[in-house]
Amino acid sequence: MSKKPHIGTRTVWSGEEKPFWKKATQTPVVHSISFSYKNMNEWLQVALGQKAGHIYSRNTNPTVQVFEEKIRDLEEADAATSAATGMGIISSTLYTILASGDRVVSLKDTYGGTNVIFSEFLPKMGIKVTLCDTTDHRQIELEVSKGCKLLYLESPTNPTTSVIDIARLSIAAKAVGAMVVVDNTFATPINQLPLHLGADLVLHSASKFLGGHADALGGAICGKKKLIDQIYHYREINGASLDPMSAYLLLRGMKTLNLRIQKQNENALQVAQYLETHPAIGRVYYPGLASHEGHSIAKKQMCGFGGVMSFRLKEDSLEAVSRFMPRLRYAHAAANLGAVETTIGPPATTSHVECSQEERAALGIPEGLIRYSTGIEYVEDLISDLERALKIFT
Ligand SMILES: *Cc1c(COP(=O)(O)O)cnc(C)c1O
Repeated sequence: MSKKPHIGTRTVWSGEEKPFWKKATQTPVVHSISFSYKNMNEWLQVALGQKAGHIYSRNTNPTVQVFEEKIRDLEEADAATSAATGMGIISSTLYTILASGDRVVSLKDTYGGTNVIFSEFLPKMGIKVTLCDTTDHRQIELEVSKGCKLLYLESPTNPTTSVIDIARLSIAAKAVGAMVVVDNTFATPINQLPLHLGADLVLHSASKFLGGHADALGGAICGKKKLIDQIYHYREINGASLDPMSAYLLLRGMKTLNLRIQKQNENALQVAQYLETHPAIGRVYYPGLASHEGHSIAKKQMCGFGGVMSFRLKEDSLEAVSRFMPRLRYAHAAANLGAVETTIGPPATTSHVECSQEERAALGIPEGLIRYSTGIEYVEDLISDLERALKIFT
């Protein structure tokens, strides 16, 4: 049996080895909504899923299918499906798995949109939600042991980069027959493979690192075929389908995923080390730093620490942040992350824009926190840029 190719080869080739229509080497963007069949019998077979093919692009589409195949292979899963956005796949997953009377255990510190589903939408449907202190593994284990349908994790988290021990908590979930879902957006399959750590499902906002160019929204989920089929069924009906053009842009971005992530891992570590010694900086949160609370877990379950960090200025206020940020030349002040360009922003206008100031405080997210997502620039330029911008505080 031949050895599985390295992930850096699979990011380029997976899903795209066959020549396409008219022998094209690149995945064609199939904008067609429908697919026509002269043979009624064949049409029926495809419609019933007895034969491979496409009927209508809200359900499946050839370009979208190639994207799903690439992420499936990178996460080393049996099956994958997609949605128009990360939130599209997160909501489809939660609404597929959970029903009235069920209980879900998660973290206080999940992505802002996910947190709104937990705090606002699920309770309305009669689903009980328990959000634990993000890094309190004992509390999470205790809550899981009381019985739940689903344990929903994110690691590293957004924006405080807390690290959760996926293997440890998966054992706790298995003990009560609960399913484990991990949002792997921050780590990407280059740095972390949650399915190998015991998770049942791994999902992504493809809008971030997977696409990597901040020009296409998308979401994906990977896991066992039976579960993925159920999530697909929900998503095909709720209609949050991935657009073929976005699928193409995401696919193009994913070809360089390994290169980008390696560079972003390196850049982020160097920037974090630099910031940690800067007199104007109060705290730096980056899983690659020995000072990080979750450093030892990160070393165990990740092969790189990712491109995202957050930090607090000594002058810990949104006002100080708003004076500092515009001084940076090489950072888009924007509600995004994972792009080739460095991107910066406070939780108030990025990950937790959906929450009020009181809600952010309750989640333990300081107003003066700054999320810094390292791009692929030459790292010395990023460091000089930060040095110049931080001069106002020294
Ligand atoms: C951005 C993000 C999401 C939501 O993704 P969209 O594509 O914007 O819907 C979910 N989880 C994490 C960790 C994110 O960073």
